[in-house]
Amino acid sequence: MTTPRIRPLEEAVVNRIAAGEIVLAPYSALKELLENSIDAQATSIDVACKEGGLKLLQITDNGVGIAKDDLAIVCERFTTSKLRKFEDLQHIATYGFRGEALASISHIAHVSLVTKTRDSPCAWKCRYDAGRLDARTPEPQPVAGTDGTTLVVEDLFYNFPSRLHSLRPPAEEYAKIVDIVSKYALHATHVGFTCKKYGTAANDIALRSGMSQKERVRAIYGSAVASELLELEVEPRAEYGLLKCTGLITNVNYDNKKSTPPIFFINGRLVSCDPLRRAIAQTYGTYLPKGHKPFVYLSLELDSVNVDVNVHPTKREVRFLYEDEIVDHVAQKIAEVLANTDVSRTFLTQQ
Ligand code: ADP
Ligand code: MG
Repeated sequence: MTTPRIRPLEEAVVNRIAAGEIVLAPYSALKELLENSIDAQATSIDVACKEGGLKLLQITDNGVGIAKDDLAIVCERFTTSKLRKFEDLQHIATYGFRGEALASISHIAHVSLVTKTRDSPCAWKCRYDAGRLDARTPEPQPVAGTDGTTLVVEDLFYNFPSRLHSLRPPAEEYAKIVDIVSKYALHATHVGFTCKKYGTAANDIALRSGMSQKERVRAIYGSAVASELLELEVEPRAEYGLLKCTGLITNVNYDNKKSTPPIFFINGRLVSCDPLRRAIAQTYGTYLPKGHKPFVYLSLELDSVNVDVNVHPTKREVRFLYEDEIVDHVAQKIAEVLANTDVSRTFLTQQ
């Protein structure tokens, strides 16, 4: 048997493999784009999709825009306006920091954008191919446009057939897009959001900026959830790095068999946190009839030195110190709040 020789992979192959780890499906491309718009201080974000985001994903924001001189490198790997030194990662306040999202997307889709900064007299339009400006239009083209950025992603995974085949039907992929927009919309109350299928008049999500969180829950998840919501405010525990924890959770009257998995934001990032999810399920288990699920939205602010956001390519998971202590503390508070409302309900029905 001959020993196979080791060779470096071609750059295009490396980039496409890396892209596949960050962009799992249309919704994960959209998550990156939403985060970019929020990082760019947008107060209005409009999303439109064709065929569950596979044919077209378009996101328009009114953020700070991209300077014309940066347009040539914006889709290159590891180009970012957000991180300079490794140490800055400890205090990173933006969603992005690696400069990988646009690059990745441009390796597995056709990307174009129109952007205008406040001080530019016109907007600039560019098309990208595999990290660079498309050879057919190698210079940004001046166009009319308003402040902010519109990013268009077309034919996602056109050169990644295995991924294309593993996706769900467009209606299901679109539902995941609506779900991710909903979660960011619930959290980022300073931003107005719309989301619709391209070419249709009706929005599936339409929220004004400044609409309260409760109003947003009503608009997105319906009044059955909204009318049974409790505001949660958990006492900070500085010794564990828990600086703040607030949320909206349904009370014990909320009667629902349809499960909406709990929504967690940690330091502004949408994350999954299995220990917290399990602890909350257990807490509700003593109050809700079997099979009934609560609606839970929690936002935790942890001391950023205790949090590692860079453990997963999609940043879906975060690690933090004192996880057990913090999970216990939050679950106890939820138990306390539920116990109180349970008492008041019994009391009310006895009147
Ligand atoms: P990261 O967000 O990690 O910096 P991205 O590839 O997502 O990397 O974006 C690269 C850069 O492009 C960002 O650092 C930012 O400067 C710019 N950018 C991307 N999207 C927008 C947007 N919607 N508005 C303004 N600038 C943007
Ligand atoms: Mg980004």
